[in-house]
Order: sequence, then C-alpha cells, then structure tokens
Amino acid sequence: MERPRADLVIEHASELLTCRTGAGDLVGRVRDGAVAVAAGRILAVGTADEVAAAVDRTGARTIYAAGRVVMPGFVDCHTHLVFGGSRVDEYATRVAGGDPAELAGRGIPVGIVGTVGQTRELGVDALVGAALPRLAEMLAAGTTTVESKSGYGLTTESELSLLDVNRRLVEVQPVDVVSTFLGAHAFPPDVPPDRYVDLVVAEMIPRVAEAGLASFCDVYCDEGFFTVEQSRRVLEAGIAHGLRPKIHLDQYSRTGAAELTAELRCVSADHLNFTDPEEIRSLAEAGVVGVAMPGLDFAVAHPRPIDVRAVIAGGMTIALATDLCPGCWLTSMQFVITLACRLHRLSVAEAVRAATLGAAQALGLADEIGSLEPGKLADVLILDVERYEDLAYRLGRNAVATVVKRGRVVVERA
Ligand code: FE
Repeated sequence: MERPRADLVIEHASELLTCRTGAGDLVGRVRDGAVAVAAGRILAVGTADEVAAAVDRTGARTIYAAGRVVMPGFVDCHTHLVFGGSRVDEYATRVAGGDPAELAGRGIPVGIVGTVGQTRELGVDALVGAALPRLAEMLAAGTTTVESKSGYGLTTESELSLLDVNRRLVEVQPVDVVSTFLGAHAFPPDVPPDRYVDLVVAEMIPRVAEAGLASFCDVYCDEGFFTVEQSRRVLEAGIAHGLRPKIHLDQYSRTGAAELTAELRCVSADHLNFTDPEEIRSLAEAGVVGVAMPGLDFAVAHPRPIDVRAVIAGGMTIALATDLCPGCWLTSMQFVITLACRLHRLSVAEAVRAATLGAAQALGLADEIGSLEPGKLADVLILDVERYEDLAYRLGRNAVATVVKRGRVVVERA
C-alpha cells in the first residue's frame, strides 16, 4: 500500500497533546508521541511507532523531541492588538493607588478614549509597525492564531484603517490574524450615543462587510457603554451583513444581555464576570463559547473576577484569551494558563484545552486549528519541558522552544 509522503516529522516527544475533541483527559496525551506534516497540514499523529508506520518519510525533515512536549499552537481568541501609544502612566498611577482622572487633566491618555486619541494620530503603516512587535512576542510564546479587534478609531475611516491593518499583518508575518469589527467599543466624545449607533449600523458595518475586512462583529455591552437595545441593533446589522456575532458581556455589571446573546447565538460571550448561573445555562444551551481572560481581571485588579468554575459547571465550553490591549499589555498565553490554574482553579488540562481547541471554537475555527488531528493546519509547538503541567508550574517563563506554523518552522530557540 502506498503511504502518504511527509515533509516534516516530529517524533519521540515525551508527551504529545492532541487536544482532540473527544479526548477523555481533555488534552489527548500520547507518550512517545509523533506528528507528521505534509504541505502545511497534519498527515498523521499518534505514538512514534504508529506515525512511522503510517507515512513515507523519504526526504522529510525530522525533529527529535525526546524529553519535550509537543502540542497544538495556542489560539488567542480575544485581543485588541492594533492600537497606538501606551497607557503606562495610567497603569503606574493605578497600581500606586492614584487617581487617573488627574492624569487626564494633564493631557495624559487614560482609558479607551485616551487610546483612541493616540491611535487616530497614526496611519496604517505606523499602526502595522506598532502591532508587529506585539505579534512577534505572541508567536515566540507559542500563539499561532490571533483574533484582532478594531475599536480604537470610532470613526468610519479610522475603523476601516484598523481592520486594514489586520489584513496587512497577515501578509507580513506568519501568525494568522482573525479580524473582528468592534466599532461599538465605546462612544466617541464628540458624537451623541444614538447617533453613533446609527453610524455603526448604517455606515460602518455595510462598508466593513463590503470590503471583506472582518469575520466577526463585536459589541461592548456594559453599564456606561452600549445598552442591550443598542447591542441588539449592532449585532443584528452585523448578522445581516454576514458578520458573525460576538459580545463583551457583563464585565462590570449584570446587563441582562445574556438573553440577547443566546437568542442571536453569538459565537462567543467574553468576560462574564457578572452573568448569573441561569444565564450561563441558557448560553450553554445556545452553544455560545465562554471566553475567560484572567490576565485582564488581574491587570485591572477586578473587584469580581470571572468565576470560571461556575461557567464550566453551567455547561459552557470555555476558552482562554489574553485580552491584549493598552489596559492589559499581555502577549503570553502561557501566563494566562498560569493565572487560570492558580487564580481560577482550572486544572492544567482544562486550561491547555481552553487555550487551544476551546479558543478555536470561540472563533468558529475548530475544524481547522486548535488540535493536532489529520487534515488540520500544522500549527505545532515543541516545549522545552517534559510534562505539560510545567506550563502552569514554572511561573513566568517561556517554555516554547520551537513553533511550526502551517508546517513551517518559524521559531527555533537554541
Ligand atoms: Fe476586549
């Protein structure tokens, strides 16, 4: 029988994690594991013996992963990657117990609106330049797919530019970037709220869809931000234009928008700090993925961090993300896993699953990425540790030695 030809084989991993859908241990651990790759996709996965028997490796590159863990690339399913400037002054003031309003009085950027000002000053090239080092850091830490939201422009032209940055980023570096339109991130100070919603619905969404610049439409539904009714208008307009719905839900208050989220079958509901158990159950029934961002709750010292155990108990599939933004400058999914385990009582297996397949589900991409299974993209990490639990155990270090993106070795640490 003719065996399919591999161009890359990674073998003899102390542990290989498939993170496949039906894995009883959530991570699909295989000892003495191997994965074979051809033309950017996974050809075979299993024990080294099984893979050796399944593929023709003539001419293939071989990587010995003895003493190392092999696993799927991390999927970071919620970020605000594209922005100008920095809010380090605000952060330093807050951690010292100071009042950021005093900074704003001196013209120092504070909050989303502060970042909007810094972002609008930059053109597309400068914004690409600002995002690239952050993406490179994410890749070096093992993230192979990143979702990236607009939302720091808040005018039609600047929101389109931010999404254009996402498109440009895909062309110049290896990480896949999934683009989300978040014009409804905040209200620009100079436009009345309902007028701004009109603009998002009647002008921005049609133009974003027409230009093919986003896969998702998101809204920031919370007290002081978009109301449930305004969120409905935004998400329904997005759906009408082929943009799948996502929602920032109940980060600082219980909005009641869980009902809308379930009704519209949003792909994901993100934050969930104040969502009550009954609402969680209805979201689970609607197939909505819950996105937890322990780094954000940590960075803002959130008074009520998400109760991830309750979200899991309610039946939702859980995903992890960094929420990288100027208020939470975090690029490492490994750090997110550490926080999820220690502060939110996830098992390491649960956290790894949520950072890979769970996050792929939050992007509607579970058929393509998030696990090591034949036919999926060959997005593979090799860790310089023997056991995957070391990801949570060894604090604040980068365990990623090698990153394979679409079958190509793109990071190789000595
Ligand atoms: Fe966010």
